[in-house]
Amino acid sequence: MARAGQGEPTDWVTRAADDAVRHAGEGNPVTVSSGASPSGPVHLGNLREFLTVHFVADELHRRGVQVRHLHVWDDFDRFRRVPAGVDPAWSEHIGRPLSAVPDPWGCHDSWAEHFKEPLRTALADLGVEMEEVSQTERYRAGVYRSAVRTAIEQRDAIEAILARHRTKKDPESDESGAEEEPPVGPSDELARFPFKPYCSSCGRDTLDLTGFSDPVIDYSCRVCGNHGRFDIDSDTDGKLVWKVDWPMRWAFEHVDFEPAGMDHATPGSSFTVGHELVEGVFGMPRPAWFGYAFVGFAGVQKMSSSAGGAPTAADALRILEPPILRWLYVRRQPRQAFNIDFGPEVVRLYDEWDALGRKAETKRDVAVLAFERAAATASAGTLPTPRVVVPFRTLASVADVTAGSAELISRVIGRVGHEHSSVDDLEPRLSRAIHWTTEFVPDSDRTVVRETPDTDRLATLSSRESTWLRLLLDELPDGDLDVEPVTSLVYGVPKLAHGLALDAGPTDEVKADQKEFFRLLYNLLVGKDRGPRLPTLIVALGPEKVRSLLTAP
Ligand SMILES: [Zn+2]
Repeated sequence: MARAGQGEPTDWVTRAADDAVRHAGEGNPVTVSSGASPSGPVHLGNLREFLTVHFVADELHRRGVQVRHLHVWDDFDRFRRVPAGVDPAWSEHIGRPLSAVPDPWGCHDSWAEHFKEPLRTALADLGVEMEEVSQTERYRAGVYRSAVRTAIEQRDAIEAILARHRTKKDPESDESGAEEEPPVGPSDELARFPFKPYCSSCGRDTLDLTGFSDPVIDYSCRVCGNHGRFDIDSDTDGKLVWKVDWPMRWAFEHVDFEPAGMDHATPGSSFTVGHELVEGVFGMPRPAWFGYAFVGFAGVQKMSSSAGGAPTAADALRILEPPILRWLYVRRQPRQAFNIDFGPEVVRLYDEWDALGRKAETKRDVAVLAFERAAATASAGTLPTPRVVVPFRTLASVADVTAGSAELISRVIGRVGHEHSSVDDLEPRLSRAIHWTTEFVPDSDRTVVRETPDTDRLATLSSRESTWLRLLLDELPDGDLDVEPVTSLVYGVPKLAHGLALDAGPTDEVKADQKEFFRLLYNLLVGKDRGPRLPTLIVALGPEKVRSLLTAP
């Protein structure tokens, strides 16, 4: 049975999986596909392509359906322009396949591989398993040869469909996959030929086709002047133009579901044209699909991103546990745009996630379904999650105050009410809290503990203030502090000053004094009017440091 059970909550993933099964035919294996060009860093917007398809594959896997997540790398697309920060000499490679352009950073075999590899690592952390296909390898192996022949033989039918959708101003003419179209009249059928070789001499696609006499394409290269020929029955160094390449591979791979970014999904775009081509030329029903919206980001002022501003999955995984990053994508409708916020929102996000995890223990609804999809996969099981769940805000504020090692933070965390037996119990969250504090919290919001006492302030204490500090230091134990007694002491000092007991209910005067006392402590300890929770701060600093900062030398 390949459907969700009766009475189960359903979401966009359920519906997309139903559509994919319907497309494949009940009982048949299902292929769901994503595609991406490795022309640059795969940022968080591109990640939606991978995760959208992954969630559908995972749902089918859960149902026991035989499913394959096929990921197609468009690495046989041309290198279009040299981005800022890369040696301008790379303009030499414009027009060559991304897989044939050397890696300017020198760490990978090619430009394409340089951008594939970090994404692969991040996807493995996210529990995404997929079958990767390189279009370079596919074309060079000749596996598309008969599909290429079909496209060439049906080039008039293809041109009729393309022409119907071609507008004066092609909205996709500036896209990464777009071909360079030579300036020729629309009557020149060779200029609209659906297949393009790479130059046999210089490897670029800067060719004018000069003739086609089946099976040979004749061309001349505008850059190197080479006059070459390409035999479609035996040569392999060429590809279908991308609006034709896409539907060809849907048919070749029998793709049952493939979504697309909204920019591809508008009328007249490559995706809608592709739908007509796959049915009209390649004889297969269009895959089930939907368009998905943009994913942006915020709060990265401090970050130095590998993506030149646009954060990647690897960047996000430095501060978010893998299930939480998955959750951001699965909980939204695909048509809903959203931002991933690296600023103070991160703290609230973790709180919300922890609350949902507690709810999932007793309830099951669509929000809990999203939690389940984010927390585990059918093949990998539960993704890494801390054995001892400590609120992110607590970890971050201890990391902030101590500015110390994971071991030191772990010791303090144990004393502020979160017992655990080792640093590992707090991972993978602890290192993310440390990264977030050091890499994303603006310096103006960081807590900097004073190194020496504020002698000016200590010399001008009012008599009330002196009393508060004396009472605090008289009662403050030596040795390791625990958060409960420290909490009751910090709140209790103004009560003692009014002659009340430590555990007395606070009067209005006491409440006003507490506010003033707390500000005094922040002033003297961290040189600000506010900071992390005082008991946490005091426990983290330890009694010796606290005494030294609250006592005039
Ligand atoms: Zn050439």
